[in-house]
Amino acid sequence: TSYHKVLEENRLLYNQVQDLKGAIRVYCRVRPFLPGQSNGQSTVDYIGENGDMMIVNPLKHGKDSRRVFSFNKVFGTTVTQEQIYADTQPLIRSVLDGYNVCIFAYGQTGSGKTYTMSGPDLTTEDTWGVNYRALGDLFHISKERSDSIKYEVFVQMIEIYNEQVRDLLVTDGSNRRLDIRNNSQMNGINVPDAFLVPVTCTQDVLDLMRIGQKNRAVGATALNERSSRSHSVLTVHVRGRELVSNSILRGCLHLVDLAGSERVDKSEAVGERLKEAQHINRSLSALGDVISALAQKNPHIPYRNSKLTQVLQDSLGGHAKTLMFVHINPELNAFGETISTLKFAERVSSIELGAAQSNK
Ligand code: ADP
Repeated sequence: TSYHKVLEENRLLYNQVQDLKGAIRVYCRVRPFLPGQSNGQSTVDYIGENGDMMIVNPLKHGKDSRRVFSFNKVFGTTVTQEQIYADTQPLIRSVLDGYNVCIFAYGQTGSGKTYTMSGPDLTTEDTWGVNYRALGDLFHISKERSDSIKYEVFVQMIEIYNEQVRDLLVTDGSNRRLDIRNNSQMNGINVPDAFLVPVTCTQDVLDLMRIGQKNRAVGATALNERSSRSHSVLTVHVRGRELVSNSILRGCLHLVDLAGSERVDKSEAVGERLKEAQHINRSLSALGDVISALAQKNPHIPYRNSKLTQVLQDSLGGHAKTLMFVHINPELNAFGETISTLKFAERVSSIELGAAQSNK
């Protein structure tokens, strides 16, 4: 079949990608067609069990009409939130062992980033996204271990919009801007000077999320518009004290819903819209640059080129673990964005973070 032919043609590239797997994990998730959407042909032609997929453009013919990509996993349209979390859980658990973990949602606006991270509706547990499941799990395991380790969990929520960092847990509506500085209290982790709120149960987290969402809407004409053009970072700090040795371990989990990756037509965008688009492009490519510099073991890692990479500095590189969910909108008119999303993901996936050196 044509799939196997293409796979054969790509064998060399494919093997290279396979060999480098395991360092930064990349999972691809394909969003289903939505109710009311014209159920046209999907651009996702095939999903293999080993993390490969084929994208087709039915309007084209020949070699240019299809491409094979390969990631750690590819999730099709029927995969549930629970199944997604099952493959994320080991990373989450390692935070309690003192690792720094970073989980990104990448993709064009409307491809399902927020669905994966938060879920469509906070009131129904079945559809909860990675964020709530992860925190629920952290509380659950820390309780299980409470005979030997006493854990404390703190949460921060920030937004990065036009290269400005804003605390989403400020309740006075003052909309204050933050400088990034080293917070020595948290073991040198490069967190912005944002509220660090202690939490003990999932309900605490849900309450904070509501505050965060409300604050996110401040100054935005429409919440969806604003949220698709800013990066939101939910950071969970864990501090554990071993009861016998009294030694302290610290782990940190960043859950990042990135701004929409779509390219903006420069001839059409003007004013605020153009500025936003430029900031987004710059910060997403800064993220790609940091990861590829780590891959090449470059002595200089350009963390300082964007606020996003500055905030995440300690969770990218060294012994930190990284997972990126790339999201695909299967509609034909998204074909161009789908290809560029997958190319970005491919660039990010072929690296070895564990062996990379940070520049500190
Ligand atoms: P993004 O955050 O990338 O802009 P959203 O998460 O808001 O995209 O998703 C866009 C729409 O698609 C929403 O209505 C969302 O509920 C729906 N959606 C996304 N992913 C899925 C999925 N896996 N299953 C069902 N609906 C989904």
